[in-house]
Amino acid sequence: MQFPAEPFKIKVVERIRKTTREERDELIRKAGYNVFNIPAESIYIDLLTDSGTAAMSDNQWAGMMLGDESYAGSRNYYHFESTVKDITGFRHVVPTHQGRMAENLLFSVAVKPGDVVPNNIHFDTTRANVEHKEAKAVDLVIDEAYDPESEHPFKGNMDLEKLRRTIEEVGPERVPLVMLTVTNNSGGGQPVSMANVRQVRELLDSYGIPLFLDACRFAENCYFIKEREPGYESKSVAEIARELFSYADGCTMSAKKDGLVNIGGFLALNDDTWAEKVTHLLILVEGFPTYGGLAGRDLEAVARGLREVLDEDYLRFRIGQVRYLGQLLDEAGVPIVKPVGGHAIYIDAKRFLPHIPQAQFPGQALVVALYREYGIRAVEIGSLMFAKKDPETGEEIYPDLELVRLAIPRRVYTTMHMNYVAESIIELYRNRDRIRGLRIVYEAPMLRHFTARLEEIQ
Ligand SMILES: *Cc1c(COP(=O)(O)O)cnc(C)c1O
Repeated sequence: MQFPAEPFKIKVVERIRKTTREERDELIRKAGYNVFNIPAESIYIDLLTDSGTAAMSDNQWAGMMLGDESYAGSRNYYHFESTVKDITGFRHVVPTHQGRMAENLLFSVAVKPGDVVPNNIHFDTTRANVEHKEAKAVDLVIDEAYDPESEHPFKGNMDLEKLRRTIEEVGPERVPLVMLTVTNNSGGGQPVSMANVRQVRELLDSYGIPLFLDACRFAENCYFIKEREPGYESKSVAEIARELFSYADGCTMSAKKDGLVNIGGFLALNDDTWAEKVTHLLILVEGFPTYGGLAGRDLEAVARGLREVLDEDYLRFRIGQVRYLGQLLDEAGVPIVKPVGGHAIYIDAKRFLPHIPQAQFPGQALVVALYREYGIRAVEIGSLMFAKKDPETGEEIYPDLELVRLAIPRRVYTTMHMNYVAESIIELYRNRDRIRGLRIVYEAPMLRHFTARLEEIQ
């Protein structure tokens, strides 16, 4: 079956309410046309992010009742540690409260000012943590990643030639590590192939540079490998994951994604010296090494979530559900980025709203319309987030892509919810001429999209 039904049944429900259009019109105006300012209770279907929004299983909730809150040596830590070691094969496991702390700890011991850290595409927090160490974060993904119509099966792959050239130009001694984000979140949740990881490893071996995975969505990436890469059809996702991690020297992880929990993360690595330094820092900024920034019960939920995420019935449903929404939209002619990635659909707002120039934020205009008309919250990844003034000419520089992301929380919404989302967007697409552009009335000096206030252009 192309789109399997939910491989779970529902034991606990959370009420959601669809507000009226009048209420939403009032709310969006008060929010300065910025959906980050809208109380979540006034949202019907919330597709702002897949991070920390998963529904935990009965097994995870049962595990939480077995939380051992001892300061040192909690039994849940040992369960967590053995689970991570078993899945990844890395020798040291450091619990953190979420992914960015794992990045911060790793870069604190590994990266010096003036260094260069390549990645396929750095996630925002990864880039910010590299730059915080006064190093440079460079994106070396293959060119196909920037073409929304390219159907390349592994659009998250690292461009090996760009990587080799970068290392040669800056010198291997200034590249303390290379990262690969699986799946590539900032590039549309696109997977990296096993062959690519292997080739990156071989290249780095010739320079003695370590490889780290940003493993937030490792299970989704491994499922794509099973589906698309010859030779992996009959391997289990757990076996594929073990091979994937075997090419790396460590990983950073936000368990808020493929850990199927609402908070948690870790750094796992092989190098004894780095592990020792990281542990000293961990005690300073997070907590004792057997809890990091987490309660014992949280560690138990992560340990159980990491097993559940490798369940192939779950992954088939998960990847299928996202693809199902993409297919409904694509068949109706709604312009989306293809192929559909692991955790989200990206609408191409430039093609959806050709009558709105980039200076009037077509992506954000679409986000506003989706909320006001249908109570759906999406997020703009376009000029509101990325446009910058040229420091010399003062001219606005706009990003190439103007996208609206619909991130699908794990195990939270049903197929009927996906139908509702698709029907809403298709109806909006038919009435797209009525959508108007926006102008900014307030913006912060950095990361303006979180707090900006806008108004509609009449
Ligand atoms: C979410 C995410 C992070 C950061 O994790 P947090 O738990 O939000 O701190 C890092 N990398 C990628 C690819 C992510 O998706």
